[in-house]
Amino acid sequence: MAATRCDVLVVGAGAAGLMCALTAGQRGRVVQVIDHANKVGKKILMSGGGRCNFTNTGTTPANFVSANPHFCKSALARYTPADFIELVERHRIAYHEKELGQLFCDVSSKQIVKMLVDECVEAGVQVRTDCAVQRIERGSDGFHVQTAHGMFFAASLVVATGGLSIPSLGATGFGYEIARQFGHDVLPTRAGLVPLTLSGTHQQRLADLSGVALPVEARSNGMAFRNSLLITHRGISGPAILQISSFWQPGDALELDLLPGQDADHWLRAMKRERPDAALRTVLAEVLPKRLAQRLCEHWLPDRPVKQIDEPQLRQAAALLAGFPLVASGTEGYRTAEVTLGGVDTAQVSSSTFESRKVPGLHFIGEVLDVSGWLGGYNFQWAWASGHAAGSVV
Ligand SMILES: Cc1cc2nc3c(=O)[nH]c(=O)nc-3n(C[C@H](O)[C@H](O)[C@H](O)COP(=O)(O)OP(=O)(O)OC[C@H]3O[C@@H](n4cnc5c(N)ncnc54)[C@H](O)[C@@H]3O)c2cc1C
Repeated sequence: MAATRCDVLVVGAGAAGLMCALTAGQRGRVVQVIDHANKVGKKILMSGGGRCNFTNTGTTPANFVSANPHFCKSALARYTPADFIELVERHRIAYHEKELGQLFCDVSSKQIVKMLVDECVEAGVQVRTDCAVQRIERGSDGFHVQTAHGMFFAASLVVATGGLSIPSLGATGFGYEIARQFGHDVLPTRAGLVPLTLSGTHQQRLADLSGVALPVEARSNGMAFRNSLLITHRGISGPAILQISSFWQPGDALELDLLPGQDADHWLRAMKRERPDAALRTVLAEVLPKRLAQRLCEHWLPDRPVKQIDEPQLRQAAALLAGFPLVASGTEGYRTAEVTLGGVDTAQVSSSTFESRKVPGLHFIGEVLDVSGWLGGYNFQWAWASGHAAGSVV
């Protein structure tokens, strides 16, 4: 098979890789994108329930988790949500804000993939799928990459292979292998934005409430997220839990404010004054899902008329409602996680060009790096911003 020469070889045709490729192509660079999967942008297609939460208008560096919180600043400042929205509008893709600055396509995430592919075609970028990489070497003239489609020679190699979440969508640890091959450190990885599992009494007492949802404030390790929680047959999920999962590790305390925005102590005292004869489970069922209110009163709270709840019990009940100490046993892991925490250590990568500080011409972008966003469109914004930054220099 004939060797293919190009200026830039991008490994990974996901969000970051495609953005990098189209940006470099627009600068007149000869760009090849290769992906081992049978189609491009599989995670984009799956994202946001098929409508792709493609950015968050409130994106700031504070919405990212990394050993170096400063690393993401430069790229995020140079390619903003407004830049991506401008691209989306130019392609006449209708979108809406769901909540908290999260922008979704009105119709389908396929439109975002088509937009990126159309931009690549326009910029003369070649994209090959079903193209597994077998070996990468660096010669004096650049990178020699042996693939299922033959040999590629490229002056710049961009690693955009993403993280480990959802292996069935083509996720692999290949980017970490390339990083290690070229002397980079890879920080320990773990699943983020992922449902938590319960075991023991909490699992026994809550499992049959699977499907019950309620607004909570989830707190752990100094972080707090107010959003909904969903009880599942294995544990707990929902946006509040996915968010806090990125800050929680087994053994860490996890608290749920079951009456977010309300002072539980105040509320209980008001109930005692105004509805003294009502059972606690009855008044609780007016502010919580009925089945959960009942379960709380069966196991954790006094199951009696509120007038019979004495002062110490009232304070205890208020504390429990304001900070229910849930004992999670673990996470559902990469099978269902939206992101991978950890990854290629940013200490050895330039935050403005995304070039390796060890190997000239080698770049790492997107989720393969130790930068992970919160839930809500931040991860795509990171993919666009880091892809654009590298695409502007390769
Ligand atoms: C179910 C789901 C829903 C999500 N929803 C959202 C959302 O709505 N909003 C948001 O901001 N984020 C969302 N995310 C996170 C977001 O999808 C990722 O953070 C983002 O796609 C990362 O971009 P990336 O280009 O770095 O990696 P990816 O988009 O994962 O792309 C990596 C590419 O590399 C390819 N690849 C991997 N290994 C190899 C190899 N060995 N050889 C060749 N190619 C390889 C893969 O096939 C893939 O095409 C979601 C994630 C999941 C799993």
